[in-house]
Amino acid sequence: MASIAIVGGGPGGSAFALWALRAGVAPGDLVILDKAAFPRPKLCGGALTFRGTETLRELLGQPGGGGETRGLEFRCALGSFPVRERDVQWLYDRALLDDTLLQACVDAGVEVRERCQVTGVEPTSSGWRVEWKGLAGRQHEGFDWVVGADGARGVVRRAAGLRGGIVGRLVEAVYEPVEAGRWDPTTLYFDFDPILDGIPGYGWIFPYPKPGATGLWKLGVMDGRGVASGSALKAWTEAYAARSGFRRVDEKIAGWPEHYWSPKTEAHRPGLILTGEAWGIDPLLGEGIAPALEISRYAAGRLKEALDAGTPTIPGYERGFRKTPEGRNLKFQWRLAEMLYGPQAYRWLRVLFGHAYMKQLAAAGTEAYGRLAQHVFKLARSYAWQVLREGFPSNAPIERDAA
Ligand SMILES: Cc1cc2nc3c(=O)[nH]c(=O)nc-3n(C[C@H](O)[C@H](O)[C@H](O)COP(=O)(O)OP(=O)(O)OC[C@H]3O[C@@H](n4cnc5c(N)ncnc54)[C@H](O)[C@@H]3O)c2cc1C
Repeated sequence: MASIAIVGGGPGGSAFALWALRAGVAPGDLVILDKAAFPRPKLCGGALTFRGTETLRELLGQPGGGGETRGLEFRCALGSFPVRERDVQWLYDRALLDDTLLQACVDAGVEVRERCQVTGVEPTSSGWRVEWKGLAGRQHEGFDWVVGADGARGVVRRAAGLRGGIVGRLVEAVYEPVEAGRWDPTTLYFDFDPILDGIPGYGWIFPYPKPGATGLWKLGVMDGRGVASGSALKAWTEAYAARSGFRRVDEKIAGWPEHYWSPKTEAHRPGLILTGEAWGIDPLLGEGIAPALEISRYAAGRLKEALDAGTPTIPGYERGFRKTPEGRNLKFQWRLAEMLYGPQAYRWLRVLFGHAYMKQLAAAGTEAYGRLAQHVFKLARSYAWQVLREGFPSNAPIERDAA
């Protein structure tokens, strides 16, 4: 028997609890604390990749009330190419998805304390003292373990002095098309044109399955390095929406940060681990739901091992994750982000959009986005041949009408 405080009841925290129960942790050992009251809004495109869909299916089955897409399309001024997935990808309004996940924890007997804003965690001789502000004022309690699942702006990572990754900035709003039929509602569109405007990231157009509404989309832009101002990102989104044929439904365009994983991010102190975005998410596309579910599976398994061994330390917690398929995938995405959002961005954009074998794999419908890491050697070899034939692309600026 151990007491485990999970700070944050988003997909990372809820999935951690559900995986921990599956690993054999007793529900009475787990407490989830969240500053919000659920269902709570969460700024998010709400799109799962095929991989994330499969993980959610395994964890919970298919929650009702969502939408489905079939693939992705990567675009930029150089052209576009489809990424066909093996099967459907689910899409949710995040208030609904997160509430469903948290309710599954409650149904399984996990205690959930809402409206508890954790203000700090401190090591003690037997674990961690967790302090929070709630309806009953300031309170604190001792726990054997703390799981930081408190997202991009969480307090646990900082309080524990763990090294974080790059923090990006995203803005997003709900839109409706001016004319029907221009955009395929079974596709998630990722447009790397912001790079041409000095924003190291991409713009997105995703269908939005808002409960009780139809014909809505979410548009936004990710600045994967956090270098552009919020107003520049909002202006970019408005211009992008206008040229893509959308009219804004939301009164305002809202913004929220993202915290990206890198091989250098730290996630463990004795008696404390991070999971989900608190540790870090995909730095290329900012995909966070699938990593939250997947990191939490790894985290719950490792914590159960430590509980069984009666030790507060998890040897090689970060290194062990890097060796999992999910860890290898995040590392691959991190490498691509370093290239595409770095000083040689134009060159790597030309590589991405000119890579014949990658496009062939992406269109095949046999691979999964976020699983290309397993083909890294074949991808590199085939591209080396292409470079021998055609030369290495230049890093000269790309004009908007380059295609
Ligand atoms: C604009 C935007 C669009 C995005 N679109 C997508 C997308 O389409 N697909 C995708 O996969 N990802 C997307 N993401 C990323 C995704 O939303 C996150 O990575 C994902 O929510 C991470 O899950 P999490 O559980 O780790 O953190 P969160 O979902 O952020 O959950 C953290 C929880 O912790 C709670 N919390 C925070 N601080 C405290 C505290 N001090 N005390 C108590 N509780 C606390 C919060 O209330 C919250 O419930 C997007 C992000 C943004 C900003």
